[in-house]
Amino acid sequence: MQSKTNTQNKTKNTKTLAAVNWHCYKACNYSCNFCYARFEDLKATPVMAENEGRHLLQMMAEAGVEKINFVGGEPMLHRHLESWIHEAKRLGMVTSIVSNGTNIDRPFLERMKGSLDWIGLSIDASTDELHAKLGRGLRGEIANNTSHHIDRMLVVAPLLHEYGIGVKMNTVVTDLNKSDDLSPLVRLIRPHRWKIFQALAIEGENDDDMEALAVESAAFHHYVRFHEKQLAEIKEMTIVGEDNTVMLGTYAMVDPLGRVYTNVEGRYKYSIHSALVMGFDEAWSEVSSGFDQRRFEQRDGEWDWNREPTGGEIHGY
Ligand code: SF4
Repeated sequence: MQSKTNTQNKTKNTKTLAAVNWHCYKACNYSCNFCYARFEDLKATPVMAENEGRHLLQMMAEAGVEKINFVGGEPMLHRHLESWIHEAKRLGMVTSIVSNGTNIDRPFLERMKGSLDWIGLSIDASTDELHAKLGRGLRGEIANNTSHHIDRMLVVAPLLHEYGIGVKMNTVVTDLNKSDDLSPLVRLIRPHRWKIFQALAIEGENDDDMEALAVESAAFHHYVRFHEKQLAEIKEMTIVGEDNTVMLGTYAMVDPLGRVYTNVEGRYKYSIHSALVMGFDEAWSEVSSGFDQRRFEQRDGEWDWNREPTGGEIHGY
């Protein structure tokens, strides 16, 4: 799956940036209490032009980036997302989005055939009552203290398996859901990879809300161990737990303006200009001191994303 371009770049550079999370859109139709991707410093909701986004992807590919993860806000709300996914695949990248499920339907998956490798579904709770408390639902639902997130996920997940898309599941553990048993729902969603995150406070993004939501490291690790035990029979699924220590300084990110950033000190450190203005390499070099390649590898950052995801039934479920 790896392109010739990327392979050539990898041999040229001794240390290349393998994976980038591009937070391509600020806006979101959900209102999760713990969200650390609100981009509070951006007053408006910038919409990058299609050709600018393609250029950004081309610069990333030339820098050796192998995997691009489109995230948000809600990336499915961006009008150029489909075009960018096709372009990233044309450039030889492994493509992924993380979504709350918005607009992921059969026509979208038909259009994405051959271009989209992975979809991460964000699911935090075993009931929608708990999702409502976490703000994990459409804004109108949350305003009425309800959520129908699980109903939507149970429609989307089987479609992803049918289309042979790799299914990731992302769960954020907070003080509210630390004792929740998510294993029955995981058995229904059947992810190939389940990432469990300790809710992370980022200065200026979510730190006010996190005072009530923060979960102790011990409780977080108990949550991960509990689910590993509950789901031990599922050999085809990888469970990856990331506490705050692991998350800080191990993500390379791009914001909706094209600024490159890292999070090593619990706050975002941005390149002074967008990569569209100063070039991706230079923007990255400004912030790369906030990224630790060794710890990135330790957190399984270079997991086997080139593996063909198994569609349809997964043995053991
Ligand atoms: S769906 Fe994602 S981007 Fe939207 S509010 Fe929730 S965590 Fe934030």
